[in-house]
Amino acid sequence: MAISGIEIYKMLPKTNCKDCGFPTCMAFALKLAAKQVELSACPHVSEEAKAQLAASSEPPVRLITLESDGHKLEVGNEVVLFRHEKTFYNKPGFFFLVKDSEEPAAITARVKEIDAFAVNYVGIDLTVDGFAVKSEGEGAALAAAVEAVRAGTKRPLILIGDDPQVLSAGLGKLDGEKTLIATATPENWEAMTDLAVAHKASLVVTAGSLDELAELTPKIKEKGLPNLVLDPQVSNFNDGVVKNTILRRMALAKNFRPFGFPIIAYPYKAGVPEVEIALATQAITKYAGFIVLENFAPETFYGLLVLRENIYTDPQKPIQVQPGVYEINQPSPEAPVMVTTNFSITYFSVANEIESSGLPGFLLVADAEGMSVLTAWAAGNFDAEQIAKDVKRFGVEEKISHKSIILPGHVAVLSGELEEELPGWEIKVGPREAVDLPAYLKQVA
Ligand code: SF4
Repeated sequence: MAISGIEIYKMLPKTNCKDCGFPTCMAFALKLAAKQVELSACPHVSEEAKAQLAASSEPPVRLITLESDGHKLEVGNEVVLFRHEKTFYNKPGFFFLVKDSEEPAAITARVKEIDAFAVNYVGIDLTVDGFAVKSEGEGAALAAAVEAVRAGTKRPLILIGDDPQVLSAGLGKLDGEKTLIATATPENWEAMTDLAVAHKASLVVTAGSLDELAELTPKIKEKGLPNLVLDPQVSNFNDGVVKNTILRRMALAKNFRPFGFPIIAYPYKAGVPEVEIALATQAITKYAGFIVLENFAPETFYGLLVLRENIYTDPQKPIQVQPGVYEINQPSPEAPVMVTTNFSITYFSVANEIESSGLPGFLLVADAEGMSVLTAWAAGNFDAEQIAKDVKRFGVEEKISHKSIILPGHVAVLSGELEEELPGWEIKVGPREAVDLPAYLKQVA
């Protein structure tokens, strides 16, 4: 639970000296509670209060970072139980499993195929996040498997095994990377912690019950390793919802520090591709930060990627495309100029229709704060002044040999004002729906 402004105020000097830039200690306390200022802005706070406030300002779910050559994945830092309360911040990472019992050449080929998979979804490239390498034998086998994986991908890795010595051989091939290793248990946690500390790795922790897990994570933290990930040992669908919800609820609603870490899910353990996918969907919606899969099929993985994207977009922020001039079907200076807003779905509907018409054109995407045409117009974010400003800002005139622009039919009402804002331009009114654009363009072409 976040600490309140009043509680913070009680720990401040209450002198209202203004050295922090605020008129009173109370004003500063309220800003600090809202995480809009740093505690260090008050030079007079006592060491004791500093320690207390620093502990309470720690994120309820620790941020875990995996990093390798040019790739970075951040997981954690979540502050709400339900996406509609605010937003979820850091998408869970998808990791595909390889085993060190497989032939190195086969590992490299599989990893290359999965690594290359990418789909563009409303302007965002969706891909896998990394790979998990599972040890099934000696350290030499794990080291060879890690090398084989690295021959096919640069993405971050999770190393899975229960023998610290074996894992050490794999980690030796990943110097300079931020890796996740699994798994510390009540039996091996000391050696696993030493290994993770030595390699600056994060560590997955598990135990036979959540009570035992709550006893184990503070011990590991005390030994100097704060970057932990929880494995609640999910064995079925019911278990997944119940255990992950308890962990996240305790971390967020009760500020229970032993559970203040991201969760890892292993849907691959189901052993049946369809069940694996279903468990992965549950893991996305119920709090997993790392999701380890085995069966790769583009048609099912696509669904997981899109689901994740939808759960982890801010419900209060529309998905936007960059405002600017988009050239479609290689337009010459004679090609028509159409205008629309920067709400992703609006942009893609219009751009797709122009593209599929086969006719060239310029699409001016105005900055309408990510709203659709009618909504933006009603909110005053898509008016003649804004369109004229964007015509100039994006240098439309320099790209064309005419002075004509096509407005969306829904805002035909703007044509008079736009004539005033763009003197000498011909303002045309296009169709109301994007789907009618190809026929319209054929008429005006
Ligand atoms: S600097 Fe510290 S003591 Fe001074 S007003 Fe700000 S919060 Fe209060």
